[in-house]
Parts: sequence; structure tokens; C-alpha cells
Amino acid sequence: MADCPLQSTADRVEILVVGAGPAGIAAACEAADAGREVMVLDDNPETGGQIWRGGPRQAEGSAAAWFSRLAASGARLHHGTTMIDALPDCTVVARSPRGIRQLKAGTIILATGARERFIPFPGWTLPGVVGAGGLQALVKQGLDISGKRIVIAGSGPLLLAVADLVVRKGGRLVAVVEQAPLGRLARFATTLLGHPGKLAQAISIRSRIGGVLRVGSFPERVSADPDGLVVSFVAGPAGRERRWEERCDILACGFGLVPNLEVARLLGCDIAAGRIVVDELGRTSVTGVLAAGEGTGVGGVDKAVIEGRIAGLVAAEQLDAARSLSAARRRAAAFSAALDHTFALDPRLARLADDATLVCRCEDVAAGRLRCHGSWREAKLTTRIGMGPCQGRVCGPAAELLFGWSHADVRPPLTPVSVADMCRSATMQAATLEPSR
Ligand SMILES: Cc1cc2nc3c(=O)[nH]c(=O)nc-3n(C[C@H](O)[C@H](O)[C@H](O)COP(=O)(O)OP(=O)(O)OC[C@H]3O[C@@H](n4cnc5c(N)ncnc54)[C@H](O)[C@@H]3O)c2cc1C
Repeated sequence: MADCPLQSTADRVEILVVGAGPAGIAAACEAADAGREVMVLDDNPETGGQIWRGGPRQAEGSAAAWFSRLAASGARLHHGTTMIDALPDCTVVARSPRGIRQLKAGTIILATGARERFIPFPGWTLPGVVGAGGLQALVKQGLDISGKRIVIAGSGPLLLAVADLVVRKGGRLVAVVEQAPLGRLARFATTLLGHPGKLAQAISIRSRIGGVLRVGSFPERVSADPDGLVVSFVAGPAGRERRWEERCDILACGFGLVPNLEVARLLGCDIAAGRIVVDELGRTSVTGVLAAGEGTGVGGVDKAVIEGRIAGLVAAEQLDAARSLSAARRRAAAFSAALDHTFALDPRLARLADDATLVCRCEDVAAGRLRCHGSWREAKLTTRIGMGPCQGRVCGPAAELLFGWSHADVRPPLTPVSVADMCRSATMQAATLEPSR
């Protein structure tokens, strides 16, 4: 990224894409190939988002093709750059290692993806307990797991993807434990018949990981002894529970994905049912702001790419080309709805935390200190839940599940910044907002 000295005015960009995962890459390619000036911001050190983490060097198949197309597109990429604030009129504030920068965009495409959902249960903060996607990211970045006993638990297709990686990297896969019951998973398998690529992928992963998959079960407690972690699981429907234990070195545990909505909220976009509201062309409720990918509903890489392409074409005013992708978009949306239904969380998961279980890891707030409060805001003011470095990204969805609290409040800066950068941002905003004489 070029040096960004203190600005008194915003740089102008025709189309700004926030997020360089599959949705952002597809959007940038379509818009740049239509001759538009495109800038892409992403907070990771490399392009690719979650599933194509590792960037062009590690990419294969369709991912490699998208990276090549992006490289040839002329879109300007800014890695390690986070959108931290939004001002009126499609103006955003971004922070990179070189400083703070203001960008005024003709159109903004939000492709900010999703993160893992964590559910607090006794022992979930012990060393050796990590997110399922967290383990995947660590292994992709070089963590050696050869010979390690690994249990993967939680919910959603990500568990199988991580299990596959563990086996390929020489880990000893002890168990993969999915909370969704067998009946729902069997119905989901019939949905996959309409998605032959995904079905083939699921079957080949199943055959590679062997007979370690348990369904309709979830972890209720984990403890540590000199031999590693001991994970207690509950199996079966309410009232007919059975319990069993597994021993491991690493418990990788994630309960589906939560769309990243903070940027959309700052821009004032309507949010409903935990996702950004968009029309069939990806237009949000705010003029000039489009959205694509996991933010509009978790649906996997195919949905992200198709929605990204549509958003890029709409931003480039290629509406007929965008509409020609509507059928593929509807198929992707139906798959997203099937995921939601299949992997809906068991209500018993909301009752696992005891009074000593930490809910907010940043500020050390345990469930027992939260039960007396009536809302996220009240609990926040009293206990500091959600006020640490993650700004509620982990504990917000957890508190929503445990206590039914909405955690929709969002304040800039979206991620912690230095005091010097805050001062620069405030100075720039004052300059931008000052009425012209
Ligand atoms: C941890 C994890 C692991 C996953 N692993 C798999 C897998 O193995 N297989 C699979 O099929 N699917 C996987 N998924 C699902 C996967 O996310 C989607 O299929 C696909 O990547 C969605 O693409 P996207 O472009 O919508 O979002 P993402 O790929 O998530 O990309 C969004 C990008 O936006 C960036 N961003 C967010 N906010 C800002 C901001 N304020 N400023 C700048 N940048 C920002 C993010 O850092 C990210 O790079 C995983 C998801 C997660 C959360």
C-alpha cells in the first residue's frame, strides 16, 4: 500500500470492495473487467478470505483461476487494511500498518464474510481447546499436528473440512462430533443430490476420515489432566441422554458461522435475521452499498462467488449480465436455507455454561455475573462484556444464545487502534465534515 500521509480530504475511488474472500474477489474481477476503477481492502495479510486462505501460492482449481483473473484485472489490492469507520456519503476510514486513510467511494461492495460461533461450556477456555476454523488456519499456516490426538466437535460442514485437513497433515483424528441429529443430516444428504460437486466432496471426505463421525451429540465439559484433555459428550435427545468421554491433545470446537455485520451496521444497512438485507441484485437498503457472500447469509463458497459476481456487475452497471445469474443465485440461496435448517442449534447448548464459565474472554466475565442483567447494554455497562479487543465478536453471539440478548450496537473504531491513529482519524473527519465555504 502506498504511504498515506495525514489527509484533509478523502481519496476518491469508483468502486470499493471491503473483503477479499471469494465474494470480494469475484466482485472485483467483474467490475474491473467491465472497465471500472476498483480498490479492494482486506484485513488479512493475503487475498483469499477464509476458504482460500494462503492466497495464490496455495490455490488450486477454481480458486487458482480466480486469483489469476484478479491479478490480471487491474483491481488495486490493499492487504492488512481494515475498514474501521464509516462517514456519510459512502466514505470510509481504513487503517493499514502505514496509517489511517479516508476513502470516498462511488459504490461500496461489502464482502466481509463470516466468523466462527463459539459456545461457552465448562473448560472451553483451557489451553488446547481451539476453534475448528482456528485449528484449520493454524495448520494452514504451518502448525505441526503430526501424531496429535484431535477431537473436532460442534456443528456444520466446516467440521468435515477440518477433519480432512487433520488426516492429511498426519494428526490422529479421534472423533468428529456433530450436534445436528441424524434425521436432519439424512434430509440434508438428499439436498446434496442437487449439488453433485458438494456431494462428491462430502463422500470422499467421509471415506478419508474413517468411522469416527458421531452425530446428535455435543461436548458439555472439558477438563485437563497430565495425559491431556478429557472431553465429556452428551448424545441423544433431551430426556434420553447418554454420556461418553474422549481423550485428546486438541479439541477443535466451532458451532457454525456468524456473518460479520459490523461494517454493514456502521454504514446503516438494514439487518434482519442476523444477515444483511439485500434484493436479488445484492443492493442493500443504503444507496450505493451492495453486499455479497456470507454477510447476506451463510451459504459457502459457491454462493459467495455468484453473489460477488452479481454485485460487481451491478456496480459496473451491467444489469442484464447480473440478472442472467439470478437462477444460480436462487439455487445458492436455497442451499443456504438448507444449511440453516440442518445445523440449527440444539437448545440444550444454551444451558451448558455454569456460573464460573467465562463468556467474555477479553474482559474475564463469567456467566454467573451476567445472569442478573436484562440486556446486552446493561451487562456491558456493568461488567465490561464485549469491551475488549474482540469488541463482542466472540461473546456477542454467545450472549445472544445464552440470554437472548441482541448485541446489535456497533461503535467505531471497529477494531482497536492506537491513540495516535484515533487522533488522525478524528482530525480527518473534522476536515471532511466541515461545511465548504
Ligand atoms: C474460520 C472459517 C473457516 C472456513 N473454512 C472453510 C472450508 O474449509 N471450506 C469451506 O467450504 N468453507 C469454509 N468456510 C466458509 C467460507 O467462509 C465461505 O465458504 C467463503 O469463504 C465465504 O466467502 P466470503 O468472501 O463471503 O467471505 P470470507 O472468505 O470470510 O472473506 C471475507 C474477508 O473480509 C475480510 N474483512 C472482514 N471485515 C473487514 C473489514 N472491516 N476490513 C477489511 N477486511 C475485512 C475478512 O478478513 C476476510 O478476509 C470457513 C469459514 C470460516 C469462518
